[in-house]
Amino acid sequence: MKKEKNNLMEKIISLCKRRGFVFPGSEIYGGITGMWDYGPAGVLLRKNLKDFWWKELVQMRDDMVGIDAAIIMNPRAWEASGHTSSFSDPLVECKICHLRFRHDKEEEIAGHENTHKGKKVEWTEPQQFNLLVKTYLGIIEGKQQEVFLRGEITNGVSVNFKNIVNSTRVKIPFGIAQIGKAFRNEITPGGFIFRDREFEQMETQFFIKPIKEEGEKWFEYWKQNRMEFLLSLGVNKKKFRFKDHEKLAHYAKAATDIEYEYPWGFDEIMGIHNRADWDLSRHQEYSGEKMEVLDTQTGETFIPWDIETSSGVDRLMLVLLLDAYREEGERIWLSLSVKIAPYKIAVFPLLGNKPELIDKAKEVFNELKKDYMVAWDDRGNIGKRYAAQDEIGTPYCVTVDFDTLEKGEVTVRDRDTMKQEKVKVEDLKKFITEKIYA
Ligand code: ATP
Repeated sequence: MKKEKNNLMEKIISLCKRRGFVFPGSEIYGGITGMWDYGPAGVLLRKNLKDFWWKELVQMRDDMVGIDAAIIMNPRAWEASGHTSSFSDPLVECKICHLRFRHDKEEEIAGHENTHKGKKVEWTEPQQFNLLVKTYLGIIEGKQQEVFLRGEITNGVSVNFKNIVNSTRVKIPFGIAQIGKAFRNEITPGGFIFRDREFEQMETQFFIKPIKEEGEKWFEYWKQNRMEFLLSLGVNKKKFRFKDHEKLAHYAKAATDIEYEYPWGFDEIMGIHNRADWDLSRHQEYSGEKMEVLDTQTGETFIPWDIETSSGVDRLMLVLLLDAYREEGERIWLSLSVKIAPYKIAVFPLLGNKPELIDKAKEVFNELKKDYMVAWDDRGNIGKRYAAQDEIGTPYCVTVDFDTLEKGEVTVRDRDTMKQEKVKVEDLKKFITEKIYA
């Protein structure tokens, strides 16, 4: 069973390379640990996922606005948020081979203890290792300023809190959504794109009145909301669960992870935290800028509490790929939701050497392209083209054949059921749109 599960990870990694989802970072130079490059299919899957997330949380809600803050911030912001002092993981080193591990990852430690042919492994005492990635800004050698690549994207929201309140019509309760890159000097990057040193996060910070019951109400609301979001992507419900944090971080009043059952067991995919007024209070203290808002009904001023939802694009992408992988005999396909599949449709001329079929297929392709990401393939036989699209997760393949020329009908083949049906060319857009919004 375990072997089969590891096998699944190997199959996903191989498919991702073969079909252009994910490549090892700077591969031709031997790669670089914790960095991945996203290829043509990967970039589309990520874009669709981010667009879907943004649409649901910003476009469709009246109480959420967006922001895109800079990756590099004034280093004082990281002092205020506590990252320079306590954004760390406990590190231990194997005294035999000097490999380093996270002390809190018991399974990884146990796994390593079996790798020294019966020799008993001794470990160094755990030391806190700061995860912030440093770099330098400025042009005068010796006078450059040490700065950090952001370790998480929350801080950019907190420091802009007053800018957003003053430049929009938001009123408590309201949220700020952001998608962007983050960097961590992870001790043990791994699990393919599960834990990287460069990754992308999607977060919402939802600001509420600083009242215990409000905190509990909105924390519960966001827990359910995020679980529903995941399940709306057509994944296997049984593989997801909530896991409350046993030990709360210094900034949190409550914290839950949504976990997924990866090939190595349940592990985090997303976090929901009640950060209370930690961030805004600290920024008020360090910057001297008032972070309070006015309740126009009661005339009271207060620093709001923040209920955060934080997820990783890369980690979510891995979950979606693992969950969508299907295999039956020789056939492999990704049963990705039509909402986020890289290409919604592929268009083929039945024969690649008949100009009249190619011209008609191009006409269909060019029309569909106006509304969807569409793949084109006129190489090899139809079977091979289906196989390629199945592995990318394209839900529908449209074949232009002689019936198209005579009756204006194309053959639409469904990725999951492999059923084929005839659809009028003029009804194609309606057909696809209905599936997307089903
Ligand atoms: P880990 O499971 O690695 O201990 P964490 O608890 O440190 O993660 P958070 O700081 O809560 O993670 O970050 C929120 C989300 O950002 C995570 O749920 C995950 O989806 C994503 N994330 C965090 N660190 C990484 C990373 N190194 N690589 C990829 N995604 C990450």
